[in-house]
Amino acid sequence: MRIVLVGPPGAGKGTQAALLAENLGIPHISTGDLFRANIGQGTELGRKAQEYMRDGRLVPDEITIGMAADRMAQPDAEDGFLLDGFPRNIGQAEALDVMLRETARQLDVVLDLEAPEDEVVKRIAGRRMCRADSSHIFHTEYSKPKNPGRCDHCGAELYQREDDREETVRKRLEVYHQETEPIIDYYRKQDLVASVPALGAVPEVTQRALAALPRRGA
Ligand code: AMP
Repeated sequence: MRIVLVGPPGAGKGTQAALLAENLGIPHISTGDLFRANIGQGTELGRKAQEYMRDGRLVPDEITIGMAADRMAQPDAEDGFLLDGFPRNIGQAEALDVMLRETARQLDVVLDLEAPEDEVVKRIAGRRMCRADSSHIFHTEYSKPKNPGRCDHCGAELYQREDDREETVRKRLEVYHQETEPIIDYYRKQDLVASVPALGAVPEVTQRALAALPRRGA
């Protein structure tokens, strides 16, 4: 199964992507996580990406598309993947189409996680990430860790992403409306979009997303 997950920042893409990928046995490919890993390792790519991310802007396509293509070419992604945060504009969506066509593959579905704007702002403001594993995500109100400031799964420190501060969040939402939303129409024309309301408890949203997947062979 080849899935693209889209939705505004704070809709719960990272949380749902990790759960869906595990459930379906496919790799979870997050360009945001790949950038953060590069920044953590101090690579040249990370250095270039950092200034854009800090301001809530998109990292240029020349950097992003190559990085995503390299990851998708890994053996574990041969039979399927879940893309989280890529593509994020029309240029990237077109580049993905070319990549898939070259290897005679195609997308199965584009899941559009829908959440109202005031809700996503609240979610982002309280979001806390695990330093050891970016798929371990908590919230100061909605998904509290058992021990404040510590990850339930591995005990590592929880932190607030630099780009989750209020000013940057506004910029990220603006970028989402201007650059990312148009890809939903782009995929609608290919009849690939399934909308998933992202409100409610995490497991409920996961179930809704699983129910929205096309049935194999259908
Ligand atoms: P995310 O973790 O998906 O919220 O991404 C965090 C930040 O990484 C974004 O605000 C962008 O600055 C950058 N980023 C992630 N994915 C992409 C992408 N596909 N294209 C450009 N920038 C990206």
